[in-house]
Amino acid sequence: MPAVDPFRAPGRWYRACLHAHTTSSDGQMPPESLVRHYRQAGFDVLAITDHWHVTDASERSTDDFLVLPGIEYNARGAGVGHLSSFHVVGVGVRDADTEANAPPAFVDAIHAQNGVAIVAHPSWSGLDAADLLTAAAADAVEVWNAGCELEVARGDSSPQWDAALSRGAVLGGVAADDSHFPGLDSARAWVALRLAALTPENVLAALRDRCYYASRGPVLHAVEAEGDTVRVACTPARAIHVLGPPTAGAGLNAGVMGLAHRAERRRREDSWAEGTTDGELLTGGTFHLPPSARWLRVVVEDASGRRAWSNPLWRTAQGWAAEP
Ligand SMILES: [Zn+2]
Ligand SMILES: [Zn+2]
Repeated sequence: MPAVDPFRAPGRWYRACLHAHTTSSDGQMPPESLVRHYRQAGFDVLAITDHWHVTDASERSTDDFLVLPGIEYNARGAGVGHLSSFHVVGVGVRDADTEANAPPAFVDAIHAQNGVAIVAHPSWSGLDAADLLTAAAADAVEVWNAGCELEVARGDSSPQWDAALSRGAVLGGVAADDSHFPGLDSARAWVALRLAALTPENVLAALRDRCYYASRGPVLHAVEAEGDTVRVACTPARAIHVLGPPTAGAGLNAGVMGLAHRAERRRREDSWAEGTTDGELLTGGTFHLPPSARWLRVVVEDASGRRAWSNPLWRTAQGWAAEP
């Protein structure tokens, strides 16, 4: 299925939680309370992903709030070794596959039910890029997991994602709460999905097509790449970076002494996107990549250190595209 550029797709943005637990596994809230909680927190979509258990509360969906069934698998059985903490989340799954016992089988089981497979919290799991590549058929990886950050400061899996991308993996990046204690570890990370309308089919298609970006707060308005030039527009940020293969990145930092590497600040008179500069902070910029950059992705960091992450773009014979 062709990937879609979320910044050019028709429709509007919807906020989704793709990873959360209830009392059906080790979460503290029953499903009906968790649905109310996320709805009140301003989300539009909640996928409930209990360990080895499909919690289906989709009857609680309304016109303006969608509840999707889901599951979280973890590797188990003899000889699984350090991979016992290798977890894979399935969104849109209706039945647990109790025979599956390893990450590639989890991904297959999720896809067999037309679900979306997400490798959960690689940093928390102690996974390296080679481990990730064993589940490279997955749709995405959690670049940020709020619960893992709060509990053990292993929320960020950017290095594993980048290494896998540099080795040819085609994986989206999501941010997720992985909430077990709603109120303490919820509404801290999400994906902004670009949808023509709020339906389960559209949510799953957008996740498959990487028609979204991940965030803990900042809003991405535009990511445009042409030739060796990338333009970004966003809410006020203290740093904007365009990442690529090793040594190929570019970045802008806010402030009069803010370092610019292969980049220029966006100026008030620039007309290519909405907005202006915001005091010392950045609301966009123009970045220049070396020809060695075969893929790129954008990270924006606000004044509090919260980030937003675009999905990757790949350099193709027809120019930059949302798939290789
Ligand atoms: Zn997990
Ligand atoms: Zn979890």
